[in-house]
Amino acid sequence: MSKWLENLTVDHVNQLTPYESARRLFSAADSSDDVKRVWMNANESPFSKDYEINSEFYNRYPDCQPDELISAYAEYAGLVKPQTLVTRGADEGIELVIRAFCEAEKDSVLICPPTYGMYAISAQTFNVGVEKSLLNADFSLNLEDIKRYVGKVKVVFICSPNNPTGTSVKRADIIEVLEAFKDQAIVVVDEAYIEFDQESTQTALLDTYDNLVVLRTLSKAFALAGLRCGFTLSSAQIIQTLLKVIAPYPIAAPVAQIATQALSPIGLQYMQSQVNTLNEYLSEMAAQLNTIGDIEVVGATYGNFVLFRTQQKQALMDYLVANSMLIRDQSKQVMLENCLRISIGDEQQNQQLIELIRAFYA
Ligand SMILES: *Cc1c(COP(=O)(O)O)cnc(C)c1O
Repeated sequence: MSKWLENLTVDHVNQLTPYESARRLFSAADSSDDVKRVWMNANESPFSKDYEINSEFYNRYPDCQPDELISAYAEYAGLVKPQTLVTRGADEGIELVIRAFCEAEKDSVLICPPTYGMYAISAQTFNVGVEKSLLNADFSLNLEDIKRYVGKVKVVFICSPNNPTGTSVKRADIIEVLEAFKDQAIVVVDEAYIEFDQESTQTALLDTYDNLVVLRTLSKAFALAGLRCGFTLSSAQIIQTLLKVIAPYPIAAPVAQIATQALSPIGLQYMQSQVNTLNEYLSEMAAQLNTIGDIEVVGATYGNFVLFRTQQKQALMDYLVANSMLIRDQSKQVMLENCLRISIGDEQQNQQLIELIRAFYA
């Protein structure tokens, strides 16, 4: 980078390294050859579907919070409209919470690694501090350790089901955190994978705890990662605060149209049957993996992915890439040495992957 540009750039931005999204890691490789790669690295859905769009009003700015879409999601989540905010993916929800509640160079957030990378990246982008409370060996929350941060952080991020361990957090543990940080911090429960473990949703706690924020997305179970559409669920007063920092037109008109269709009764049925199918594929995949080589499935399988450990993780990863199968290396995360993550694909992709893994160990 030119010296002048480096001097002009804000210090903490100079120090940032961009999030290594699954797409960034492999897109260059993807375009350099014409091999058809199988993408099982970003927890995307293997299913896709057609939607209708109506371009009649594309000359107009869209509503900031399209009413039909908000109504549809509120109903789906069993909440009311003032508790519901639509954002550009759940990632924007993370960012809005940090921007609304954390002051640069002064405040901090708490994350519980190993977990989703964007909480820390988002905080660093705004020059907000990141405190870490490691999960226990069984990937449950270390409640005693978390409580040490009362008064020291403004936001606590809990991911449940957790990416990449696939474990869900017990309601009693969430309640203990909400109680401990009452009037002190916002507790964000990221439910990006909740459709794969519906009973563990914490939205029922929104009535009792006004410091709770729940994040949702259409990127995983709804098979719409390309749409960039997520939801933030909270008390009406927190939603009002987040609306102060959101962009004026965050949701493009076609996004609202497609998302509304995905949340229609037929869209929901579709999603539910895909979730049932993926849940079956996932149990099958996990069972198979445990029978191969030194592979040991790690954590649980409450998402659309499975994490496993092998002493040969680098050689296996290289072998799979050479065979055009992309899975995700999670071994740089604390507690996850030698761990790789597979996002569940369709029947044929799963079979192809298992066969390749068997061939590698044979
Ligand atoms: C995929 C994912 C997100 C991001 O969802 P988008 O709506 O695509 O921004 C958020 N949290 C977790 C835990 C995820 O795995």
